[in-house]
Amino acid sequence: SDLTNAAELVALDRAHVWHPYGPMPGTVPSHLVESAAGVRLRLAEPLGGNRELIDGMSSWWAALHGYNHPVLNQAVQDQLGRMSHVMFGGLTHEPAVRLAAKLVEITPEPLQHVFLGDSGSVAVEVAMKMCLQYWQSVGRPAKQRLLTWRGGYHGDTFHPMSVCDPVGGMHQLWGGVLPRQLFVGEPPAGFDAEVDPAYAAELADTIERNADELAAVIVEPVVQGAGGMRFHSPGYLRLLRELCDQHGVLLVFDEIATGFGRSGALFAADHAGVSPDVMCLGKALTGGYLTMAATLCTAEVADGISRGSVPVLAHGPTFMGNPLAAAVANASIELLLGQDWAAEVKRIETGLRAALDPLVGAPGVADARVLGAIGVVQLDHPVDVVAATEAAAREGVWLRPFRNLVYTMPPYVTGDEDLARIGAAVAAAALKG
Ligand code: PLP
Repeated sequence: SDLTNAAELVALDRAHVWHPYGPMPGTVPSHLVESAAGVRLRLAEPLGGNRELIDGMSSWWAALHGYNHPVLNQAVQDQLGRMSHVMFGGLTHEPAVRLAAKLVEITPEPLQHVFLGDSGSVAVEVAMKMCLQYWQSVGRPAKQRLLTWRGGYHGDTFHPMSVCDPVGGMHQLWGGVLPRQLFVGEPPAGFDAEVDPAYAAELADTIERNADELAAVIVEPVVQGAGGMRFHSPGYLRLLRELCDQHGVLLVFDEIATGFGRSGALFAADHAGVSPDVMCLGKALTGGYLTMAATLCTAEVADGISRGSVPVLAHGPTFMGNPLAAAVANASIELLLGQDWAAEVKRIETGLRAALDPLVGAPGVADARVLGAIGVVQLDHPVDVVAATEAAAREGVWLRPFRNLVYTMPPYVTGDEDLARIGAAVAAAALKG
């Protein structure tokens, strides 16, 4: 590509375009992506000597099947020829209906109803609205607060920010204006760890003492993502299910990051064999192609809402149920379930373990952990994001470390050779960053 043009674009970007959690104007230039295919991002300017980078991030948990996939491209093109969008008020269409039916089929059985929103944060907003409205509708209007564990991340819009980690999280600035929610510590670390009785008692006590005010408990099951990349035992999900049933509190699982196989089960809830009352999906829902998210709920939640003085769910975004996004979501789910996806995730898990296990005990490394197609190196110091990103790029890999974490969640289609390069890049970024 034309390098002068690329330089101009990057300068314009820096002058005018906000990026996630970025300053304005930008201090560090973004890398210009020209195209992407398979697991490779093609850059329009040199970065650490490589013009093509293997994507170790799946565009933040989303691009399961890689980029420019012929089947997904075809699904969008076919739908484009029919209609790209119509309003969802009073109208419906096959892609959205098929998608909703499919999500009901593949998620835990009690989840029956689907709200197709347009981003993960909106899916969480809708989940919260469902829970709060449920209790108002069934005559328990005092139950309007949420409980979560620390170290979580549920999105950047206002109500979801109120359940993000209040200390280490990204929203400290807003403490004074956010709804005041309840927090308990994050579950003790380790997917294979036994449930800690002292922690279980604290959880039980908090739910019991606050049940009169509590609408719902909302958590990221098994993997806390952007709040710290922690793994915990599915036993805590079973415990939450029991406690919520016992004390009349709804349970929400935010599976926006974990959904569609990432942790080794199709949904993280499946590790525990429990169903939430409300579940949020996003990111990989469309194979990373288009923006769409889903909030599923049980018949009981929907029936409760319909018994209220306002017997409707008052939420309806312009792009609700977008046909292009729904069509590619249907194709992505079919592609995923039509293959032995669990074997592919297991293969990635094995590859990541081989690369990351040796880092345990290395200078500056506090912990290295792998679950499913997620690999994390936790440092004992804040990462130098620019240096770590460049160290990975020199290995031919795109990574985006944050805080004290260098992590990867590659597309499931990443081949063994590319996976080894991702492993080497994580190590390089962790040791040099
Ligand atoms: N919930 C979880 C668990 C997430 O990881 C994210 C995104 O990182 C969100 C919610 C918010 O989703 P979105 O960025 O699509 O609004």
